[in-house]
Amino acid sequence: MDYGMIGKIEKAKRYAEDRKRFRFNKFEVTFRGDNNDHLVSFADGKFGCDCEFFITHQRCGHTMALEILFKEMIPTPEQV
Ligand SMILES: [Zn+2]
Repeated sequence: MDYGMIGKIEKAKRYAEDRKRFRFNKFEVTFRGDNNDHLVSFADGKFGCDCEFFITHQRCGHTMALEILFKEMIPTPEQV
């Protein structure tokens, strides 16, 4: 491995520990729920989920789990 690549790997490790460097713009995730899989999406600062609870509450256990998982990496409503 060349010296340049070794430096990049070191830098990548540091980057990966600094969550604030990352901001998701959009994504889709298959969420393995206890009973069914759910499709959770995120775009333009808003979550979507195909579960029933989300339809009535615009938030659900699935989207909230991703909020926790991607803490600091998804924009808060003020940042959109
Ligand atoms: Zn859901």
